[in-house]
Amino acid sequence: MSEIFQQALGETIPLLRSVDAGIVRRPKASRRALEELRAAAMKPRDGTAMIWTWERLEEAILGCVKCPHLVASRSKVVFGTGDRNAELMFVGEAPGADEDLQGEPFVGKAGQLLTKIIEAMGFSRAEVFIANVLKCRPDMPPGESGNRKPKPEEMATCLPWLREQIELVRPRALVALGATAAEGLLGETRPLRDIRGSWLDFQGIPVLVTYHPAYLLRNQSITEKRKVWEDMLQVLRKLGKTVSAKQERFFTQPA
Ligand code: SF4
Repeated sequence: MSEIFQQALGETIPLLRSVDAGIVRRPKASRRALEELRAAAMKPRDGTAMIWTWERLEEAILGCVKCPHLVASRSKVVFGTGDRNAELMFVGEAPGADEDLQGEPFVGKAGQLLTKIIEAMGFSRAEVFIANVLKCRPDMPPGESGNRKPKPEEMATCLPWLREQIELVRPRALVALGATAAEGLLGETRPLRDIRGSWLDFQGIPVLVTYHPAYLLRNQSITEKRKVWEDMLQVLRKLGKTVSAKQERFFTQPA
């Protein structure tokens, strides 16, 4: 036994000396292994939380199977889209049929209206970040089309993903689109008319709750459009943007 040990020692010591002297290159770890190590190092000792990178978060969300009934019915997981360092972030409730097929939030008719609102504010769609509380489309009973509202327990299961996205974006302001998004994000159960237009808080980030664009598609009155626009003017002011006279006048009654 001691002979074998002596032999191993005899082979190892010169190798270690040559590494030290720079004669033999130190073995290189793969990029993925280094990322794993970095993530493990960032993991708190109690193992209850993880500091995420965008790459790891996207991989985790796209592969999430926490809701088996939604995994069975979804076409695509809808991660979110836009500038990952955006100063403004919009949060909806859940993907609909169009979003489920395309894997992108707010691409249906309501999404097109949201894009117009964003552009009227002076941003492009790519300059803000858009995500939903629920990343998978709520399943529908067999043979039924349309979309259903996500259940509170579904939103509670998925909320940690959105929380990590917000943590990475660190926007200066959040806009919650509709009562269900406000419930999922903030636990708000007050009627939308009571919370719309006032600033709330999500982990130190100001949140403004406004109507979902789908509501504006159902209700085309200029009064309701103006309410949403006044909310957006508040957001612009919160971000320190200059509001033009033309922007001020949008959706006011014609003289
Ligand atoms: S809804 Fe959210 S938590 Fe549920 S499976 Fe999809 S990504 Fe996972």
